[in-house]
Amino acid sequence: MRQVWRFALVGLLLALGSPQARAEDDLARSPCGGTLAAKVCLVDPPTRSQRGIGDLRRPCLPGSRDYVSTFLRIYTFYPKRLREEMCRLKRIFVENSFWASGYADPGGPSIAVRREILDRNLTLSQWATWKEQLSFEGSKEAYRSAAGLPFISAALPLPVSGAAYFIVTHELAHLMDRDIGASKVAPGSFASLSWRAKNKIDTQALTADWPRPCFYLCRRGKLKPARVPELYGALSRGAFASLYATRNPTEDFADTMTFHILARHPGFRYRVHYGDGRVWDIGRHLDSAAMQPKRAFIESVLQRRDPPAPNASHSMN
Ligand SMILES: [Zn+2]
Repeated sequence: MRQVWRFALVGLLLALGSPQARAEDDLARSPCGGTLAAKVCLVDPPTRSQRGIGDLRRPCLPGSRDYVSTFLRIYTFYPKRLREEMCRLKRIFVENSFWASGYADPGGPSIAVRREILDRNLTLSQWATWKEQLSFEGSKEAYRSAAGLPFISAALPLPVSGAAYFIVTHELAHLMDRDIGASKVAPGSFASLSWRAKNKIDTQALTADWPRPCFYLCRRGKLKPARVPELYGALSRGAFASLYATRNPTEDFADTMTFHILARHPGFRYRVHYGDGRVWDIGRHLDSAAMQPKRAFIESVLQRRDPPAPNASHSMN
């Protein structure tokens, strides 16, 4: 029996000494820690009398607590700047029914994740493949990889849903962007690195006449699967972290920050397989010369430094 207690004590000490345990301990002691759990809120879609998504008056449904540990874990793996952003939130919504993966509402401020993604505990590979294929006539409902369309093999060796980690980071990045105006196309801004206007990519950052991809609500149709090799070939030589980032400067900032944060974790891998053995390795792409001005800008945001002066020209890798 004494042996059992000795093992239990050693296990407890090891657990308390681990970075994860220390981070959770820090969280419990921080002014934010006590309130973060109470902000996690499972909700139904807004009623007509409510303001819309992000409405803080919506009641938190029974079952909200089931999602608390996911968000607390994500918090513990964040750098300081993202923790602060998460602590500013009034609500972290889990939307019972929603058409996209998540959203950020600066009016709250709040962020949200689609419940289904959490309930299915999707890996980063599963969720990212589903989302990528949406832009190429993939299925909106089933999280299934369609043959012949690009798919993603990813690894994020953390004890938390990779899909949730990605989505939460992306939405927090939107809120940070809103505060600093990074996605405004203006001298010195993040957007000025790759965009000439809100809807016009700089031809030095990607090929001319780039077709704006659509993922969720698409009025003008999806990209043709026949264009997959051409489009990903261009992306692998360009200055964008993802296909999604080419939608507009706002998504460019949010996805670039997300991949920058993910790449801090040892063992992170994210590869887009786009047919005939061709692979766009985002991990390596992030280290390319073309991505460096953007990553330097993101790092300056995380460190609260003035962003570096943008280079007049973008090198293509
Ligand atoms: Zn977004």
